[in-house]
Amino acid sequence: MGKGDKGGKGKRGKKLDKKARKASSKAAAKEVEQQARQDEAIAEHEAEAVREIKDVANTLRVGKGFVLADVDTSATPGFTGDKIAGKAALKACEAELSDLLERLFAESTVGSKRSVLLVVQGMDTSGKGGIMRHVISVNPQGVKATAFKAPTKEELAHDFLWRIEKALPEPGELGVFDRSHYEDVLVVRVHELVPEAVWSKRFAQINAFERKAIAAGTTVIKVMTHISRDEQRTRLMERLDRPDKYYKYNPGDVDERSHWGSYMEAYQTVLDKTSTVGAPWHVVPADRKWYARLAVQQLLLEGLRGMNLQWPQADFDVEAEKKRLSSS
Ligand code: AMP
Ligand code: MG
Repeated sequence: MGKGDKGGKGKRGKKLDKKARKASSKAAAKEVEQQARQDEAIAEHEAEAVREIKDVANTLRVGKGFVLADVDTSATPGFTGDKIAGKAALKACEAELSDLLERLFAESTVGSKRSVLLVVQGMDTSGKGGIMRHVISVNPQGVKATAFKAPTKEELAHDFLWRIEKALPEPGELGVFDRSHYEDVLVVRVHELVPEAVWSKRFAQINAFERKAIAAGTTVIKVMTHISRDEQRTRLMERLDRPDKYYKYNPGDVDERSHWGSYMEAYQTVLDKTSTVGAPWHVVPADRKWYARLAVQQLLLEGLRGMNLQWPQADFDVEAEKKRLSSS
């Protein structure tokens, strides 16, 4: 750097700089404006998508005379929008779900015993994992998720509800079951892992177990993610076509497909015998992943809204604390 130029530019250079600054701040302002317009458009699109949600929970609830075989697995009951709208609606409702789950947790800090249990049960590839990733993960805090696999030796040495009881949510928590105690009347029945005399008694045991959980303060939401046999083939094929999905593929899944009819029969019995007033089942058509995720989110929201969750009152004098803090 020469002595004469003082590290700066000439007068002309400074003027050019000023001009450039002005131009770039103008461009920045324009960008901000553009962003704001874009955000507004997205918000409007999301609000529109939310208006497509009709009464999902009531539509999917399993009542007397429900026939599983009559369900159209590719339908989108209670939602009139398309896939793009469905994804927007899911996103738009995340904030409320997160807020309600935080309230649930908050009230437990002042002694509330309430909790929520979401049971997700369905055939292989029916999207149970996707529900965990796309619906539940908005709020990893306060969530107790359990994926039930074939029982271990230790678990088999106990009653079938032993491992389930341990996985129930604590006060303030959302418990999520990926498979559940219902496997003990589904896969266990289909493969005759215990005699009929044993599994046939389990429906009453399950109802009693859930009644007890409800009495202890747990809201139980039960969901069957229901896909068609053809859709399952497509999804299994996708796993074979993609190295990043091999880990989800299990050659045994193909063998299980030959038992499809027996599984559907077993599911029908589950729905007949365990869709109770306190803990009804919801059958979610799941051939469209985006719909199944939205539906489960809405079921959760409906359950949480019904709990009338309030933020706990302060157990201290807020004004006095403000004064104390200001002068601290
Ligand atoms: P996945 O959910 O694909 O990881 O597979 C878990 C496997 O565990 C499935 O094949 C289930 O049928 C099986 N499973 C879960 N619970 C039980 C149970 N109580 N008895 C026997 N098999 C079970
Ligand atoms: Mg599997």
